[in-house]
Amino acid sequence: MTALIYIDPQAIHPVIDGVWHRGRFTAIPKPGQGIRMLCGATGTAAFEPLERRRDDGAPKTCFDCEAIYMREHGIPVPPNHPSLQPRPVARRAGRH
Ligand SMILES: [Zn+2]
Repeated sequence: MTALIYIDPQAIHPVIDGVWHRGRFTAIPKPGQGIRMLCGATGTAAFEPLERRRDDGAPKTCFDCEAIYMREHGIPVPPNHPSLQPRPVARRAGRH
């Protein structure tokens, strides 16, 4: 007999390298399935009990995902939001 475990896809906030993101999930991803976040980050779905979420410290917020989520839900993004702040430009390796 199947024992169904119901999970709200809207409550899925994947953590990639210590940063939690948002996505547009309408179903629960399958383990190993490639998933894309609102900010464009991608990863392979894996599952752990919630109590392990802070094993490496509290995940940080992906502010790009947050700003996209706010815009999509009609929430004003304040001008001082971290996603709108200038960021250091990554140096390119191997200059010519
Ligand atoms: Zn993100």
